[in-house]
Amino acid sequence: MNRLPWLSHLPTLLTTVLLASFHALPWLRWNGRQALLLDLSNRRFDLFGLTLWPGDVGLLISLLAAAAVGLALFTHVAGRLWCGHACPQTLWSTLFNRVERCTRRWLRHPVAERTLRHVLWAMIALWTGVTFVGFFTPIDALLGRLVQLRPSGWEIFWILFYAAATWGNGGFLRRRVCTTLCPFARFQPALSDGHTPRMLYMAPRGEPRGARPAGLGSVARRGRGLLDGTTAQDYVFRAAHPELAGPMPRFAFDRLGDCIDCAACVKACPMGLDIRNGPHADCLSCAACLLACHRVQHDAGFDTGLIRFCAPERMAGRPRRLLRPVTLALLGVLVVLVLLGAWQLARIQREDESAVGTSFACWTMPNCSISNATSLVTCVRSRPSGTSRASTRW
Ligand code: SF4
Ligand code: SF4
Repeated sequence: MNRLPWLSHLPTLLTTVLLASFHALPWLRWNGRQALLLDLSNRRFDLFGLTLWPGDVGLLISLLAAAAVGLALFTHVAGRLWCGHACPQTLWSTLFNRVERCTRRWLRHPVAERTLRHVLWAMIALWTGVTFVGFFTPIDALLGRLVQLRPSGWEIFWILFYAAATWGNGGFLRRRVCTTLCPFARFQPALSDGHTPRMLYMAPRGEPRGARPAGLGSVARRGRGLLDGTTAQDYVFRAAHPELAGPMPRFAFDRLGDCIDCAACVKACPMGLDIRNGPHADCLSCAACLLACHRVQHDAGFDTGLIRFCAPERMAGRPRRLLRPVTLALLGVLVVLVLLGAWQLARIQREDESAVGTSFACWTMPNCSISNATSLVTCVRSRPSGTSRASTRW
């Protein structure tokens, strides 16, 4: 079955939706306020109708911890789908890459192409910086100040900082961030096991690889069938290390596997990997090789699925185990964190006020006595229209 039409557009669709969501999020309103606003200067966080004050920091920590453990659990169960399709580094690298491909198509003159590319990259990077700062200060007021050329020094600093980071990471470092800088990538081996899906090449079907005349059917149609695992891995090793194993023997066309050795999967890989050599720690499960091979196999009239996203245990024909010790441990921690967050949320909704800040001062009076004053600022939660503040001195 050819699932190419919708499958090949899925990564682009996901990237577009996620990038659009990032840029749209600060513009969403909730009860007349910015729906998602981490207002650090006023020490107030608005999360879709829920207002958190400094006294509510426990809930925020629980939410962040639950998100981190949730991501680890997702990676353990579903592989590196986050890295390959949803991580900001992947999204912006993909966007910058698309821009580069377009400018190369539009302009043949290298200087003009480079100039246009960097202008477009700079515009994207600056708008990303504005949007990012818009999560920390009301974005409509920020934009108003920018239009009137009256932004504060800190706003200029952070916009330029995030713009430079976006430009550098998306335009130059790209996937090098994944291989050298990202700490989450270093955790991947600890989160994966034989039941975690990853991108795999089906060597018993694809080997021995080689070009062949058109019209020769797939191994299934020719009746050659699948090779045993050891022979298939031997061919993979010979192809990957000719300097050690010597040149690959020549095979009759009807003994060849389904890999036509077109290298489309290698050219498509943003990490420069050859998936046929076996799973690699740098593989992001981005599916670029899968889609490229899918196209090639479909055009050759073969069944698709020579490269597939599946667990090694499943590829070896063993049954799938959804619940493993690491799964249960991560699930347990996640449940505890969610319950903790729910308890804190219930406490916040019960309480009518939260301490926002205190200050203390003392001074010497004319009669040489020492006097002091403590100022306690509290906010009274009045839902849904916002909060009021009261200052108490004694
Ligand atoms: S081998 Fe390359 S193209 Fe294939 S999923 Fe991994 S990173 Fe993507
Ligand atoms: S794209 Fe498929 S057929 Fe072509 S070299 Fe890669 S695995 Fe072989």
